[in-house]
Amino acid sequence: MGKTQFLYNFLHQEVPRSGRGMPTYYRTALFISEAILASYFLAGTVLSALATGAPALVPIAVILATAACLWLMDKMSARANLACVATIIGAWLTWFVHTFGWSAGSPNILVPVLSLAFFNIYEPPRGKIAYCLGLIGFRVVLFAYSLHHAPTGALNHTVSLFFQVINSVIPLVILSINYILFSSSIQASERQLTINNQELHKEAGTDPLTQLPNRRAMLDVIEQYRANNPSAQFGIAIADIDFFKKVNDTYGHNCGDYTLVELSRLFLAEGEGKYMVCRWGGEEFCFFMPEMNLDQAGVTMQQLHSTIRKLPLHFGDEDFSITVTIGVEEYDFKSPTDAILDRADRKLYLGKVHGRDQVVI
Ligand code: GH3
Ligand code: MG
Ligand code: MG
Repeated sequence: MGKTQFLYNFLHQEVPRSGRGMPTYYRTALFISEAILASYFLAGTVLSALATGAPALVPIAVILATAACLWLMDKMSARANLACVATIIGAWLTWFVHTFGWSAGSPNILVPVLSLAFFNIYEPPRGKIAYCLGLIGFRVVLFAYSLHHAPTGALNHTVSLFFQVINSVIPLVILSINYILFSSSIQASERQLTINNQELHKEAGTDPLTQLPNRRAMLDVIEQYRANNPSAQFGIAIADIDFFKKVNDTYGHNCGDYTLVELSRLFLAEGEGKYMVCRWGGEEFCFFMPEMNLDQAGVTMQQLHSTIRKLPLHFGDEDFSITVTIGVEEYDFKSPTDAILDRADRKLYLGKVHGRDQVVI
């Protein structure tokens, strides 16, 4: 992707649509930030009153406006609330720099406001850049103003010291709280996303009736095995229930389902350490036997074949049993998986035409 394209995509990035209200993490960050700001303005108002001998109108208005922002938080969008906070801080700084000059460090408070704007997931990058440029522009203009206008009031040494302390500490406190809230929210989202993806992946690879892996999951496992063990042998078998249509026709479709579930249970119970089994489709199952050659795979399937014949099935008042036909193949160290499966399928077909109920090796 070219740099221009990257920039274009970045600037035109789609963002989530803000519904009613704002995300909890963002509301918490705004609420805490505004509560700390209100306390900061209150402390600043008291300190400046101590310095000048009388409370000033602007700081009192700023405290009331911040309280109103907190009060109205749930009735405004995140963007509107942030715009109000920025205006309030702008008013506070203009008054402060006009009255006491630049050197008490008050413009530091612009930094946490910037962080609030950047973490608003409903604001597109263009809005954030505009917000950032606006704040920088404001800071530059304020600085230029302070260079050309002498402060109207003066801070004595102690009050100036207090202002230096709160103007250094408060922005860092707000910034730290916001970063902790935002980063833990991102971590929680990522974790949830990973869990959801894992569940979706599992669901996509599972047969809903038997809960066995499905064809897709089995093929993934075989390909993975082949990639990780290029010189290892393995066996593959395909089993198909004999005359399964008759089970459905005689005892009903539910009984057919029951049979598939019971058979799957048997496969899992017998398979530990020998094979992986999947529902290949319909009444067919596929077995993957790692590290087994044709003889070993054949013996494993012969044993399973005998066990299936003895599987007692009861549905309603009916007792019955089933048989299966199985075709077995081994990896010849060259064929693709498709071809091995194809050969196993042809052996299965041979077993069907030669009387069913058998294992063809
Ligand atoms: P063969 O010995 O030649 O394999 O005979 P068959 O009757 O088993 O084979 P056929 O292909 O004629 O029929 C397979 C039947 O399996 C037909 C279909 O309705 C049934 N079937 C496939 N999937 C399901 C399922 O999920 N539940 C139930 N109950 N039946 C199923
Ligand atoms: Mg079939
Ligand atoms: Mg069948």
